[in-house]
Amino acid sequence: MAEFELIHRYFSQAGTHRKDVTLGVGDDGAVLQVRKGHTLAVGFATLAAGSHFLPDADPETLGHQAVAVSTNRLAALGAEPAWLTLALTLPEADGRWLEGFSRGLDRLCGRLGMALVGGDTTRGPLAITVQSHGLVPEHESPRRGGTRPGDLVYVTGCLGLAGLAMLAQQDEIRLSAPDRAAADSSLAWPEPRVDQGIALRGLASAAIDLSDGLASGLSRILRASDVGATLQAESLPVSPLLARHLTEVGGWMLPLSAGGDCELCFTIPPEHQVALETRFGLLEVGCTWIGTVDSTSGLRCLQSDGTDIAAGFR
Ligand code: ADP
Ligand code: MG
Repeated sequence: MAEFELIHRYFSQAGTHRKDVTLGVGDDGAVLQVRKGHTLAVGFATLAAGSHFLPDADPETLGHQAVAVSTNRLAALGAEPAWLTLALTLPEADGRWLEGFSRGLDRLCGRLGMALVGGDTTRGPLAITVQSHGLVPEHESPRRGGTRPGDLVYVTGCLGLAGLAMLAQQDEIRLSAPDRAAADSSLAWPEPRVDQGIALRGLASAAIDLSDGLASGLSRILRASDVGATLQAESLPVSPLLARHLTEVGGWMLPLSAGGDCELCFTIPPEHQVALETRFGLLEVGCTWIGTVDSTSGLRCLQSDGTDIAAGFR
């Protein structure tokens, strides 16, 4: 199949049709209308065969994941997703693979109200790069460097389930069939925290996407802001499924450090706590207060017996 035909068949109309796309797939590049009073936010993700997934991975989950990971980075900026661009490197034009991949991408874009507006397709080892573009009212994006001592640290959803699924896939832990299916599904079908990111506008002092794990993500906020933080290990939110296996997998270290979860970590000044919890109370997936920012640099995560399990992250 020629490149032109391939793009046309699988990528010419993916996602939602949006009126703010002046020129989309088919022209040299895309021309997009940014709403008045808003700024353009962009989030990126690359998935490379061998590094991020096995070459025989289900293409539909890859299409979904590429959109989910880049859009969760956009969510950390408080943006409403609008447009997607896609750089696809393929070893060959495999119709079955492209059909599955474009279905996963199209469904999640459609659900998020995003339009695929352009990209590039080249031949080479399988790699997928996605950019999620979105809109945020001027001056309302949280930034990594904005947090201060006394601010409260929160995370969305639950932590560590993707990490549990990875341990099960590597045969490091045995799960019952239903537990295994639930863990695998959370890893395969991550959900970007778009509504939660929008709820942070004007309230959060900093926010970050947690695809590399809580300790790594929060440490970046702390370094950028030149502060530290102390977390309570027992406050880390884990799903009932992970709670049942927590001792087996080494305790609170897993939710603290495992990557792969599609969640956000953010900080807010205490005077915004009530407003924030009111906004999150309206959402399907909420947030949990896990600790406090302080002026001693580095990250601490204390268990009830006083031991610090974050010692390795300084
Ligand atoms: P060029 O020769 O300028 O690289 P292409 O033939 O690669 O042009 O692309 C033609 C059109 O298809 C452009 O509008 C481009 O944005 C779009 N496009 C190419 N690859 C993809 C893709 N994988 N997904 C979405 N749009 C794509
Ligand atoms: Mg091209």
